[in-house]
This record gives sequence, C-alpha cells and structure tokens, in this order.
Amino acid sequence: MFVTRFAPSPTGPLHLGHAYSALLAHDMARGVGGRFLLRIEDIDATRCRPEWEAQILDDLGWLGITWDAPPLRQSDRLPTYAAALDELWRRELIYPCHCTRRDIAAAASAPQEGGDPVIGPDGIIYPGTCRDLLSPGYGRGPRPDGTALRLNMARALDSLDDHPLIFTETGAGPDGETGQIQTSAQALRAGVGDVVLSRRDFLGSYHLSVVLDDADQDITCVIRGQDLFEATPIHVLLQRLLSLPTPAYHHHSLIRDDSGKRLAKRDNARAIAALRDAGATPETIRARVGLPAAQS
Ligand code: GLU
Repeated sequence: MFVTRFAPSPTGPLHLGHAYSALLAHDMARGVGGRFLLRIEDIDATRCRPEWEAQILDDLGWLGITWDAPPLRQSDRLPTYAAALDELWRRELIYPCHCTRRDIAAAASAPQEGGDPVIGPDGIIYPGTCRDLLSPGYGRGPRPDGTALRLNMARALDSLDDHPLIFTETGAGPDGETGQIQTSAQALRAGVGDVVLSRRDFLGSYHLSVVLDDADQDITCVIRGQDLFEATPIHVLLQRLLSLPTPAYHHHSLIRDDSGKRLAKRDNARAIAALRDAGATPETIRARVGLPAAQS
C-alpha cells in the first residue's frame, strides 16, 4: 500500500509552495488508493506557534485535503528521539559539540583547513573541533543533555556493512537526478560531515526526527521539495544505522515567484490565507501551482 505524508513546520503560514507539496502528495495517494498522512514538525518550540498550526490545518482542509489518521506531532515523540540518541551514544556514533556558529565559521576558514569552508546541506561542514575530546568507552556513560550532539560521520560509515547507500528517486533532484541514487562514503565524509542529530535547545534535529517519524508512520514514499534532495543521503544513512526501512523519495520542483526566487514563509502575499481573503478558490490555487483540476 502506498503511504505518503505532508510534514509542515508551523513556523509560518502555509504558502503556495507548501500547498503544491501537500496537494501533489494527496493527489498521488488518492490516485492509487493509498494513504495520506499529516505530521506537524514542531520540535523547535522557539519557532513554532499553535496559531500557525491551526491556520495550516484550516488551509489544508479548505484545499480539499483529507488525512487518514490524526496528525502525528513531533513534540509528542521526544521519548522516541531520546531512545534513538541513546542507542547512537552507546555505539559512540554521536558526540557532544559545544561550538557556536561563529566558532565553526572561524575554525573552518583557518589556513590549515584550506581557508575556504566547504558548504554541505546544513551549511559549513563541521571542522571537527569537538570530535575527539572524549576517550573511547565514553558511550558507557550517560548521554549528556542540554548540548548539541553530532554524528561522527567517519565512524558511522565505518560501522556499516558494504551494501551501498542507495534510494529510489521517483521524481527528480535539482539536476534531474532520478532512478537509483547512490551516495559514496567519500561524498558523505567530504560533502556532509558531522551533522547535528540533537540540538542544544531542543531534543533531536530535523534529520533524526524525520527518519524516525517516516518509519513509524510506515511511509513508503516521501514526497517533498527539491530543496531537501541533498539531505536525503543523510536520511538513508540514518535509516541504515538505526535498522529502519528506506522509503522511495519523490522530490518535486519548487514553486517560485515571478522573479524566479523561491517562496519564503515570510512572503505573506503568497500565503494561502491571504489568497483566500483575496477571493482565490481551491481550483485557482491548483491551477496556479500547475496541478490539474481535482477529481470529484
Ligand atoms: N518540515 C519540513 C518543511 O516544512 C518538511 C520536511 C520533509 O518533508 O521531510 O520544510
């Protein structure tokens, strides 16, 4: 059975780009008699607001979208994230990091690092300042709280068998990548590095929670924007480390404004709520994002 989801973060209104993603996923699920689920990605309590969540749910309903189970809320899932972090800690695949953004930028541009920081899917590739501060065996002690935890990418890759890191792309990446997408260990080491799996100010991180939630919601196909294509190899790696299945991925193009810029959440003129107020209908929204009229 085909199972997909839409996973908004309630940090702003639903805009045209989100509406496209949600409608596409909903159409694809309904088209094959599959399931469509919702997930509220609200782990970052400093940026999420209940008003945004209520508005997003209202806008989705207005667009004609129905979901087949109560929405999964990430803020209810902290024990699951903590258990996964505990396991990675015991295996010494994560380590505490105390660096600020400024520390990272300074260390990554130091002359011995070559001067030019390498940028990965999460920004500057972590230069490794905190990586080896603990002695081997540290995983037998308790996992620290209130500090960022990073994946030790090299150790994580070394811990895997030699089955390739691979996923099936049924849409397309930003450069038209489609079909079987394989990522080399070298590409992850050099181009991604030690990503954050738990933040100092909240438990978990986007990469960790998305992987655990997609598995718990039995998602068979993740449908989302191409801006997340580069993050997908990280998710495939985490699935392997945590013995979770890898779903198919369907990345779609991003809805841009008239000048070709990506729509940002701040761009309230393109918020669905504003378009509704200005007289748009669900059909005009579908037409505007290039989707065919809804089947009745
Ligand atoms: N919450 C993410 C966003 O709003 C989507 C994550 C995903 O679909 O994997 O951009």
